[in-house]
Amino acid sequence: MKGYKGWEKDCEYDYNVFIVCNSSKEAKGISFRELRDYGSDCEYIDVRVKWIKEGNIEGLPFGVCDEAEELIRRNIFQRLPEGGRCDRCNEFDIPVEHYKGECLCIECIDRIRGGKNE
Ligand SMILES: [Zn+2]
Repeated sequence: MKGYKGWEKDCEYDYNVFIVCNSSKEAKGISFRELRDYGSDCEYIDVRVKWIKEGNIEGLPFGVCDEAEELIRRNIFQRLPEGGRCDRCNEFDIPVEHYKGECLCIECIDRIRGGKNE
């Protein structure tokens, strides 16, 4: 199986679906249903999918993965602009990013980079 990102072309919302499945065609079908469920009125032809080659999908089940923090830890998604939870300080509803296998807020990343926490 492979990991795919799915989204709606020219959509005003930055909403991505992540799917573990066998082909881009399958990923497109699943993305379409998921985007519709999310409230989009997109047409099937507007759905785009991309194979995320570098992401580690080991152990993820078939289908949609909506655990954003887990996707960030695995370096499948690099950042979440809002609504994330930091692995270190446990702040939530904040922007978070991938940092060396963890899902962290900007403050924690700065602290690590500054060498005060390691
Ligand atoms: Zn933090």
